[in-house]
Amino acid sequence: MAGGSRGCVTLRGAQIRDLLDAKHNVLFDCDGVIWNGEAAVPGAPEVVSLLKQRGKRVFFVTNNCTRPRDNYVQKFARLGFTDVAEEEIFSSAYCSAAYLRDVARLRGKVYVIGGGGVRKELEDAGVPTVEEETERDRGVSITDCPLDPEVKAVLVGYDEGFTFMKLAKACCYLQDTECLFLATDPDPWHPLRGGRVTPDHGGLLMLTLVEGSPGCQQVTQLVYLQQSGRHPLLTRTKTFQNTMQDQFEGMIYFITLLKGVLLELTVQVHSGSQGSGSLTAALETASSRKATVIGKPGRFMFDCISSQFGLDPARSLMVGDRLETDVCFGSTCDLATVLTLTGVSTQEEALRYRDSPEPEHHSCVPDFIVESVGDFLQALEE
Ligand SMILES: [Mg+2]
Repeated sequence: MAGGSRGCVTLRGAQIRDLLDAKHNVLFDCDGVIWNGEAAVPGAPEVVSLLKQRGKRVFFVTNNCTRPRDNYVQKFARLGFTDVAEEEIFSSAYCSAAYLRDVARLRGKVYVIGGGGVRKELEDAGVPTVEEETERDRGVSITDCPLDPEVKAVLVGYDEGFTFMKLAKACCYLQDTECLFLATDPDPWHPLRGGRVTPDHGGLLMLTLVEGSPGCQQVTQLVYLQQSGRHPLLTRTKTFQNTMQDQFEGMIYFITLLKGVLLELTVQVHSGSQGSGSLTAALETASSRKATVIGKPGRFMFDCISSQFGLDPARSLMVGDRLETDVCFGSTCDLATVLTLTGVSTQEEALRYRDSPEPEHHSCVPDFIVESVGDFLQALEE
C-alpha cells in the first residue's frame, strides 16, 4: 500500500513496460478508464488485445450496475474491444447477485431498488425478487400497500425510477433486523457522457417530515448532504412552500407539494451520472442502518474474481480513475495501483492524499500515475 511520501510515481515508456512485465493480471475499471460514455479511450481496445496476446489475464471491475454482463459484452464490441468475454466482466450488479447466492445463501426474496442491470443479474443467478412496481401500484400509500413477507434482503443500486414509495417500502423491510441491507456501490456520481464529468461531489437528498399521518406528510425542509466518496462534507438546507424543481450537483429533484402535503417525490439523474451511493445514503438515513457495500472499495469484487480465477495479489494490477474507489480497492486487496487521468480524479488530488497527515487517506494514494491507458500501447508494441 502506498503511503507517506511514497506513491504517485508518474510512469513513462520503459517504466510502464517493466510494470506490465511484472504483472500477470490486469484489472481495469471501465468508466473514465477504458471508455467515457460511448467513446473508447484512444488506444484502450488495442491495449486490452495486446495484454491478452502477451499472455496476461484481463478483468473489468466496474461499480456501474446499470447493465447486465451480456449487455456489457455488446458495449465492448461496439466500442472496438473485440475479444472481451462475459466471464471477464465483474460489475457490482453481478457481484451483488453472487454475494446473495453464494455468501449470504439467501432463502427468500430481494426487494430491489435498481434498474434492469441489477434485476437481470439476480434473475441469472436464480435469486428471486419482488416484482417491480407497476402503474397500478402508483397512488397507493405506504399505509395500505402490500408488503411481501418473503423479503429477506434489500438491495440498492442505481435507479432512475427511485421514488418516495420505494424508499418507504425498503425502510419497512429493513425494520426486520434479519433482513439484509446491501448496496451495489458507494459512488455518489459517475462521469457524464461526451468526456464530461459533473463538477465535484454528488448529492444525497433527505426529507424532513413533520406532523400529519403517514402518506400525508407535511414537508418543511429539504436537506442536501454533499458527499465525497462516503464522507459527508457539507449540509445544505432548503425550506420550501409549494412546488419545487431543483438541480443539485448533477442530480435533479422534483418535489410536488399541495398546501404543504407531499404528493410526489422523484429523483432524476443526468445521463451517465450513475452512482448508487446517494440513494443508499438516503435509505441508510431513513432506516438508521448501514448497508453492506458490494462494489469497490470493498474487497468482495476481488474475492469474487479470485474465487473463479485464483489471482495472486502480488502479480495483479488495478487501473482506475477514481481514488476513493478504484485505488482504495487496489490498496485494500494488496494490488499495485495505477491512476489514469482520463476520468474523475486528478493528479493534484492524488498528491493531496499522499501528503495528508491522516493515515486513512493513504489507501487512496496510487502507486503510479499515467495520463491514459493509451500510454500502455507503446510499451506493449515494443
Ligand atoms: Mg471509473
